Order: sequence, then structure tokens, then C-alpha cells
Amino acid sequence: MSITDSLAPTDHVNALLDGGLRMLITSIVDNAGITRAKSVPAQRLRTAARDGIGLSPVFAVMCTDDAITSSPLVNGPVGDNRLMPDLGSAAPLGPDQTVYWAPADQLSQEHQPVDICQRATLRRQEERAVAAGLDVKLGFELEFTVFTGDPGDPRVATLGPAYGVLATLKLEDFAVDLLEALDAAGVPAEQLHPEYAQGQLEVALPPVSPLAAADQSQLARLVVHRVARKHDLLVSFAPITVAGFVGNGAHIHFSATLNGVPFGDNGGPSEHARHLIAGVLAELDGLTGVLAPSVVSADRRVPGNWAGAYACWGPENREAALRYVPGSITGRPDSANCEIKIGDPSGNAYLSAAAVLASALTGLEQKMVLPAGLDHDPASYPEAELERMGVRRLPLTLADALAALADSTVIRTALGEAIVDPFLAVRRHDAQSLGALSLEDRVRALRWRY
Ligand code: GLU
Ligand code: MG
Repeated sequence: MSITDSLAPTDHVNALLDGGLRMLITSIVDNAGITRAKSVPAQRLRTAARDGIGLSPVFAVMCTDDAITSSPLVNGPVGDNRLMPDLGSAAPLGPDQTVYWAPADQLSQEHQPVDICQRATLRRQEERAVAAGLDVKLGFELEFTVFTGDPGDPRVATLGPAYGVLATLKLEDFAVDLLEALDAAGVPAEQLHPEYAQGQLEVALPPVSPLAAADQSQLARLVVHRVARKHDLLVSFAPITVAGFVGNGAHIHFSATLNGVPFGDNGGPSEHARHLIAGVLAELDGLTGVLAPSVVSADRRVPGNWAGAYACWGPENREAALRYVPGSITGRPDSANCEIKIGDPSGNAYLSAAAVLASALTGLEQKMVLPAGLDHDPASYPEAELERMGVRRLPLTLADALAALADSTVIRTALGEAIVDPFLAVRRHDAQSLGALSLEDRVRALRWRY
């Protein structure tokens, strides 16, 4: 809950200034998955809240390496939009309450929604879900790698063991400050733990409504970076940060009640949940192009890494792209959810959430039938058996993932051509400029972008 939640828009500025704001950072996540920001000092807050801040539409075609590509709908240096901070969602970046952040919407100069705005795209899908009687909750898991030393010669900050308490103790000061800062920012972590790889940590965020969840993911990543800097640590949210190590995922826990009926019942997913999961399952290839669209994403999504390499679902199956989580006896059925494991932090959380919602809603609208879930590691079934069950590997290359996105009517229609065309242009530029490099060089090219 932010300090401005219950206020009228005109009161937001006063509340923030009274709260000690010295600088507001407002940002968007672009089609390269990169957070691009503008900031204003306290004395400009009122003007920024009224007029917005100028932002070129070419941000829609800015690539991971900062090259500016073009698409039929967006090109060239001409034009201007307004970056409009959503002050109702503003949050301090830590207990010091001096630097605040707010997610921004992109508006025209007439202050009308523009169709390249990623946040507006998610808002539309959320409204569609509400109209269908759904109360959707999304919870992002954020994995990242902590380094010490120089960006040119980084060293992982912990040497394991995987999930080991020694890694927690090594980063204790950072961890305590991080948890407090997340709390102050209104994104209290559900938990923090060392992950499998050296230097790797995970913060799990609470399940909230879709737009709030994408905002939370953006905010929490900023807070992680900020606290790390104060401890002389470097953080990377790239999908792979050290060639050869298990990568960083950005799994999404999805659940929805339908007119109050919970997502799970004692036997597994409830009826509407089965349709919703079936909808996501049907679109997994195209979703891979949205949720895991970097030049190292396919290297992360390999069997054995719990990264969702196979298009299937299964109860508590960590090798399935969709893991159904029934929850423990004390939390059932309210804690039941479906963990979507294909995503990594190079995706744009707003577009990822919008594409997931659109796929799930299509499943519900068409009453799609959920096939049997897999009880075992998909890699352990004979090839013929996988084929019989309709289980396949998800795209093995970025090019294939983007082609699947381009082919997905469900996702294209939901996100809109003004998002999908520039998105594909950006990611194809990346594939062309970086795709042929060695894994080491691709990892190096992306490490400090996220
Ligand atoms: N690091 C894994 C990934 O890249 C996820 C591990 C886990 O399930 O937490 O998706
Ligand atoms: Mg994890």
C-alpha cells in the first residue's frame, strides 16, 4: 500500500512533498526489457504531475545495445509523447524516504493513451479479466546475481553451497537492508534465499493484481540495485550472468478466482483454473517470445535447470513449463496457483503479464480442455511417449521464439500491432547484432543492461 493510495490525484504531490521527497524517478520498461527513466527534483514535481515529461516515441524501438531500430509503426526522431508518472503508485526506494519512484504511463501530448504504451496494454487485459468475473493475482519471483569488484572484472559474491546458509551469512548485511528497503517501498518480500548458482539470490514478491504486480517487479528490481550499490555490490538481472551457470528466471505465479470460486480445489485445479491453464499451455511457444526474448534466454531454458524447457504442465513438477502448486494443507485452496516458469528477467513484466492474461482468458472463453499433467520429469519419458502426450521442447532459439510470437493471433491481438511490431523489431535487431557471438560474449553484452 503506497502512502498516496487513498488520496485524490491533486493531493498526491502534497503527500509526497510532505513525506520528504527530494527526487522522483519515473520510468517505463521498454521493448528491450530495459528500464528507462527520467527524474525531477521536488520543486518540479507539481509540473511533472500536471504536464508529464517529454519522451520520444522512438523509445519503442530502442534495442538492448541502445541502437535505435525502426518498425513500420514507429521510426525516426520526430514526435513526442508524455511520460506521465502515476503518483498513486509512487513509492520511496528505501527507509530514507528521499528518493521516490513512480511507474509512468505514456500519453500523447493531448494526454490521450498511446498504443505503444506497455503499461496501458496490461491495464486493458486486466480490465478484460475483471469483466470476465476473474480476480487475477500474479506474484513475480525475481532471481539475480550478486557480484563484487569491477564491472569489467566481476566476481560472484558467494561461492555457494547452493541454497546454503553460508551464502546467506556472506550477504547478511545486504540482505537485511534489502528486506527493509523493500518493506519501506511497499513491496514486502515473501522470502529471500540463495539460489542454485554462485552469487545467485531470489526474492519472491507477494501475489497482487496484474498491473500492481508488474509495477512491483519494476520497483523491486530498482530497490535491489540501489541497496546493492550502497554495499559496494553489483547486481545483474540478466537471464544468464556467468556462462555455464544456471540462469536467472522471472517466474510468474498465476491464480484467479472466478466469481469468488477459488483457483484450486482439493483434487487439483478447479474447473475454470483448468481452462485458464489450458489457455496458457496452448500459447506457450508464442509466450516464450514475449517472456524470454533475449539472446541468452534459450541458453537458460534447458532441461535440468527448472526453467520450463518443456511445453507441459504438472502438479508440483519443477521441470514443466507450468507447475501447478496446490499449496500446503493450511493454505488450501486459497494459495493454489500455477507457476509459469518460462520467463526470465529480460522480458518486459507488463507485456509478459498481458500476454499471459490474454492466453489464459482465451482458454476460459473457449473452455479449452487441459490434458493430463505430467507426474515425472519430462526428460525421463521416451520420445514417442512425449509425442503421444503432445509434449515438446519449447523454442530452441530466439529466432524460433520470435517466430512463434509473430504467429500467435491471441498474443498479437491482445498486445496490439503497435506493441508487437516494434517489440519484434527490437528483439530481431538483438538477434542479428549479438546472436552469432559466443555465449561468453552474449553474456558479457547483456550483463549490465538489466
Ligand atoms: N534458476 C531457474 C530459472 O532460471 C529457476 C530455479 C527455481 O525454480 O527457482 O528459471
Ligand atoms: Mg528460484
